[in-house]
Amino acid sequence: MLTRLIYASEPSEALNPATVQNIVDRARINNMRLQLSGMLAFDSGHFLQVLEGPRAGLSELYGRIAADPRHRHIELLEVAPVHERRFSRWSMGFAPADAAHGEVFFRFGGNARFDPNLMSAASALGLLEAMGAASTAVSATKAAA
Ligand code: FAD
Repeated sequence: MLTRLIYASEPSEALNPATVQNIVDRARINNMRLQLSGMLAFDSGHFLQVLEGPRAGLSELYGRIAADPRHRHIELLEVAPVHERRFSRWSMGFAPADAAHGEVFFRFGGNARFDPNLMSAASALGLLEAMGAASTAVSATKAAA
């Protein structure tokens, strides 16, 4: 059954580009194997990730992500059966949640800051889709066919 999972978390320590690159590189390989697609947005204080795909693979991966010491204070925003993928273009798209997205943060959040813990699942999904649509800001890896 096709399922979508959205969570927010905080980096355990100061985030450096190599850490994010390492996460995305592993995600590209693992998510394709599990037929998962999704997107990760991040800034120095937050991660926001959506993952979608077969429920069994999603459960397996989330177990690993939840145990990863590189982040903490993981808060589930949504786990829900869905009819279709929203991020089928990417096994893992990612975008820095920087000031260039201020208008998008304002549209989907309460203010112009990236603060996923204050967002509903619907707002978080809208935010990730809008950031994904800004293709110049997203480094993407192709999803499994
Ligand atoms: P490897 O990458 O070989 O890692 C082996 C073990 O070492 C794992 O337990 C891993 O957690 C740990 N590890 C690796 N590097 C570090 C490090 N620098 N510091 C501390 N521990 C480390 N994985 C995915 O497959 N898909 C995703 O979409 C995905 N999203 C993530 C989002 C966030 C915000 C974070 C923090 C991690 C994410 N991960 C994702 C990584 C996931 O938590 C696992 O680390 C990864 O799935 C393990 O991949 P692997 O089995 O190929 O092992």
